[in-house]
Amino acid sequence: MKTLLVSFALFAGLALLNGTASSQKIFDVHLHGSKNPSSQVLTLQKAGVYKAAISTSWALQNRYRNIPNVHFLYGLMFPCPNGKVPYSLQACFATGEDWPPVGWVEQQIKDGRIDFFGEVLNQYYGISSSDAALFPYYSLAQKYKLPVGIHTGGAGPDHGSPNFKMEMGSPLLLKPLFARFPELKIWIMHSGDQYYRETIGIMKENALVYTDISVISNPDIVPAEKFRTIMKAFIEAGLEDRLMFGTDNGDITKVIRSVESLDFLSEGQKTKLYYRNAERFFGNAEAAKEPGTETVHSNHNGEQPPVSDQNSVHSFKEIIPYLR
Ligand SMILES: [Zn+2]
Repeated sequence: MKTLLVSFALFAGLALLNGTASSQKIFDVHLHGSKNPSSQVLTLQKAGVYKAAISTSWALQNRYRNIPNVHFLYGLMFPCPNGKVPYSLQACFATGEDWPPVGWVEQQIKDGRIDFFGEVLNQYYGISSSDAALFPYYSLAQKYKLPVGIHTGGAGPDHGSPNFKMEMGSPLLLKPLFARFPELKIWIMHSGDQYYRETIGIMKENALVYTDISVISNPDIVPAEKFRTIMKAFIEAGLEDRLMFGTDNGDITKVIRSVESLDFLSEGQKTKLYYRNAERFFGNAEAAKEPGTETVHSNHNGEQPPVSDQNSVHSFKEIIPYLR
């Protein structure tokens, strides 16, 4: 008995020493590069991240290809204002282009080097998410069944994108795409932020559309009460199967705390948010399945899935609350 007690005390001590070590499985769908990828990944891993969708400059992104322990999915960040990633102002591509050549992109997909498109920076570029210049890329995404993550909402200061247009951050601009690309898997990044009601409307009409909670779940940027209001609205709209966890390089322990503070979420709903919904969205139906449930199939016809009741690049880390 005494031995047991001593062992328990030791275990508790170790757990405390470990600090943020967590048994929670997390799929972070909104990550960007860092000056120090190894320490970034270690922090994520301690918080429970086993998988992450990363998008950053092509050169920096390639540094993540040999990092063990976290399974990375690689994005394609574009179009790049003056060829640069917002905030970090690194060149998106070695050639300094704003738009990666479509032929090159297709080759990278065939070579297995691109798993999704995003973060699509149309708002920073000053164009609509339905601008025809994006169509060749959307066609590729649809052809290869790659998800497309589109930045929505606003932005922090000092992004360095001279043509940034606030009005291009509305998710409503996506509407024309659904008719043109009926099978495109779109995720509305940052839940639309101040346009969250519009995001809910779009998601109710289009069952292929998912969203991530990056930025809105970061108490350094968005007040906790606002996050609570937004999440309650999503849950009450029956969208618990399409919400995904994301940090956007914010402090992951704070983001987890924000989620845990939502006392109206059941454990099952949190598990969906932490990783199951993302697994389904990124194509892993098995990992998305909860024991004893059917896999959800959906389409753009408004059919709803079952409702159960850089140098961080594009990081909003140190900014003050904006737009509120
Ligand atoms: Zn963004």
